Amino acid sequence: MEKKNIDWSNLGFGYVQTDKRFVANFKDGAWDEGTLTEDPNIVLNECAGVLQYAQTVFEGMKAYTTEDGRIVTFRPDLNAARMADSARRLEMPVYPEDKFVEAIVKTVKANEAYVPPYGSGATLYVRPYMFGSNSVIGVKPADEYQFRVLTTPVGPYFKGGVKPLTIKVSDFDRAAPHGTGHIKAGLNYAMSLHAIVTAHQEGYDENMYLDAATRTKVEETGGANFIFVTKDNKVVTPKSNSILPSITRRSLMYVAKEYLGLEAEEREIYLDEVKDFAECGLCGTAAVISPVGKIVDHGKEICFPSGMEKMGPVTQKLYDTLTGIQMGRIEAPEGWLKVIE
Ligand SMILES: *Cc1c(COP(=O)(O)O)cnc(C)c1O
Repeated sequence: MEKKNIDWSNLGFGYVQTDKRFVANFKDGAWDEGTLTEDPNIVLNECAGVLQYAQTVFEGMKAYTTEDGRIVTFRPDLNAARMADSARRLEMPVYPEDKFVEAIVKTVKANEAYVPPYGSGATLYVRPYMFGSNSVIGVKPADEYQFRVLTTPVGPYFKGGVKPLTIKVSDFDRAAPHGTGHIKAGLNYAMSLHAIVTAHQEGYDENMYLDAATRTKVEETGGANFIFVTKDNKVVTPKSNSILPSITRRSLMYVAKEYLGLEAEEREIYLDEVKDFAECGLCGTAAVISPVGKIVDHGKEICFPSGMEKMGPVTQKLYDTLTGIQMGRIEAPEGWLKVIE
């Protein structure tokens, strides 16, 4: 199979149309078989549920080439399970989890020419999503849905080298205590746009959201979970029902314990104790871990000892180990790599 003529290492993070995408439709209470199509456009009724009441959920993962030349995705079964949880919360029919993984495999395989080569740092970003497609004017769940998987090649995350982020403690809230913060829904992103545009205008890279009820505990950013390293090398991450359960974060906590022999704990983390941590990072599919150098809380600066030039030592070990597992350089736990064949 011949690869597309793309300058992989200079790709950014933008939509690049690929050859095929997967589409399945839910109608009269059942999903159809689904198929690959070349048409990247969707024609919807003007009153479609997704357009009027934002009934849509999504997932995000990467397909890439390992050191020994296999094309793989990382733990897609967890994306399938999470999308099922998201769908149930928005009263959408679940796309069966085994069919979800099959659809990922089919779509990546059909776009194999866009999977970047090993060592380029680039990946094929995979975006499964689902939305209410029939007309809905009274507020209720749609009766018909479409599940789709699109792919787009994206460049290396740390293109000019790793640069620790500066984060602002936001005055906006991301998620209500019993709301939708724990599901991957477009609605959580629509309402975060004003907060992130404002933070960027003020010169910050990201927002740290606090728990909406007490505004004393750390939640997450708009699209990534926090991990912290204590001064005695323990890895800690916030526990909350309104955080999106990041697959990267769950994998890093496992790596900390099982590969690095570190203590790793999910617990409530108060903003007050953040100043005592040695390292801080943001975790998600896109970057695996982005180090945080500084957090600014209304003029009060928290500067981590790891500084503004590089990752902290434990963050670096976590990053190297998990990316090593993903790229096939370090043996993966059973079931973590799904080979596309
Ligand atoms: C997708 C997402 C993450 C990261 O999850 P991964 O499974 O690691 O990619 C974190 N927070 C939010 C709000 C997200 O939407």
